[in-house]
Amino acid sequence: MTNFSNYPPQTSQGNLQILLELAIDWSLAHGLVFRPPSTTSNNNIDNNNNSVIHAPISLFPSPFPRREFELALELQPIFNRLFFELSQNHDFIKDVIEEVTKVDDFIEKLYNLYVTVRQEGVVQPISLGLHRSDYILHVSSNNHEEAHIQQVEFNTIASSFSSLSSLTGELHKYLLESTNYFDSSSPIFNIEALPENDSMNSIPRGIAKAHELYGSERAVVLMVVQSKERNIFDQRWIEYTLFKNHKVHLIRKDLSEISQEGKLDPITKALIIDGKEISVTYFRSGYSPRDHLSDEAWNTRLLIERSKSIKCPTAAYQLVGAKKVQQVLAAPGVLERYIPDPLEVKKLRSCFAGLYPLDSSPEGEKAAKAALENPERYVMKPQREGGGNNLYANDIPQLLSKLTPSERSSYILMDLIKPPPMKNIILLQGEMVKGEMISELGVYGIIIGKGKEVIVNERGGHLLRTKGKETNEGGVATGYAVIDSPLLF
Ligand code: ADP
Ligand code: MG
Ligand code: MG
Repeated sequence: MTNFSNYPPQTSQGNLQILLELAIDWSLAHGLVFRPPSTTSNNNIDNNNNSVIHAPISLFPSPFPRREFELALELQPIFNRLFFELSQNHDFIKDVIEEVTKVDDFIEKLYNLYVTVRQEGVVQPISLGLHRSDYILHVSSNNHEEAHIQQVEFNTIASSFSSLSSLTGELHKYLLESTNYFDSSSPIFNIEALPENDSMNSIPRGIAKAHELYGSERAVVLMVVQSKERNIFDQRWIEYTLFKNHKVHLIRKDLSEISQEGKLDPITKALIIDGKEISVTYFRSGYSPRDHLSDEAWNTRLLIERSKSIKCPTAAYQLVGAKKVQQVLAAPGVLERYIPDPLEVKKLRSCFAGLYPLDSSPEGEKAAKAALENPERYVMKPQREGGGNNLYANDIPQLLSKLTPSERSSYILMDLIKPPPMKNIILLQGEMVKGEMISELGVYGIIIGKGKEVIVNERGGHLLRTKGKETNEGGVATGYAVIDSPLLF
């Protein structure tokens, strides 16, 4: 089957209504949920936190080529090791990041954090990387069989949806097994086409292993959170699974609470919060300037960075997740410097889209010119995370023409990835929305190192997010996309 123009299969309005009700009730019953949006302002939550709404999900799983899915899984341990090694490579970080610090205040503060603690002496040699590498299928024709994954970005901080992704896979399995989507003739709806997804357990397993290596029975894990988080249950599932499977406690605090309650043991440099020693500090916040509005927040980041707790991620590790690093890695000859095996280099490179600097170098000048002439071919990205930051189409020349070559260096340019056409029905706050969709596959990865020695290097399951074709940005938490699962063909 090469063409999915009839997907999802036509079915009556009555059948769709049944699927909708089944999907919503299953989600509510199994914790595939968000906090409801505030009735007063859209992105906040109300004070009375005693109700939930189903997570934004797709009604059908989305077809995805098995070959490309397996390739993405295969690449993960190679990417894990690469980013782990870069996070330990001072010369690389200095070379790539210093230029950006001159024109990006957020990156500058993060870099200063890294440099300060490096000069003082790092007290914790163990590091925990919880990654997610994201891909979109690219195709130059409408033939799905010719589609190949291209990497959108590599995340080293606060990669979300590992819990709700597993649950969405379970939901689709349930809908398929209980209704066969009212289409018993379609060969694509078979249970083997829905791959197992371990992401509910893998992230807690990684945190538990790091906790064990920290080596204190009494210590607890700290999750650094944003104060008003609608996607709290994805995080709660990590907390509950960590406790259920590993008997490790986790506490949730935002940066301002840590600033009030946290201190370092003057001798051991253990991070103590509210009297409890912290083994692992796991950030689900701290990736955006909005999380660091005050000096107090940056001082708290410094306190954590100085501490003996295992940081997921360290400032260095967060910095190597920058879009600028991705662009540098895609330049000719760079991967070869960090990966000895030419076959591995070839595999990674096969999934790179065109990436270009926008600085004052000759390549940067050339890319800026190309983007001014054909903006619809590109995405322009600042050094930001969390969705909603990129520029597309005519917004590119509008901004680019105002920037000096030096200011331009805080951005990179990337070829627009063009996925094959695909339709689905998504559920947003109880409503079905039908249309052409774009899916983005994420693969989780877990790596634990002590100094330069790698102790754990694993895949951690996957995520499929799907959004309307006309939507540029992809975040689920930001309201652009829904959680989906792959139907392999
Ligand atoms: P963030 O760190 O904010 O998530 P991303 O690089 O993932 O930044 O970009 C956000 C979204 O923009 C992606 O989820 C994807 O939907 C879209 N996007 C990013 N890069 C490309 C690209 N090269 N081609 C097509 N869409 C892209
Ligand atoms: Mg992204
Ligand atoms: Mg990101």
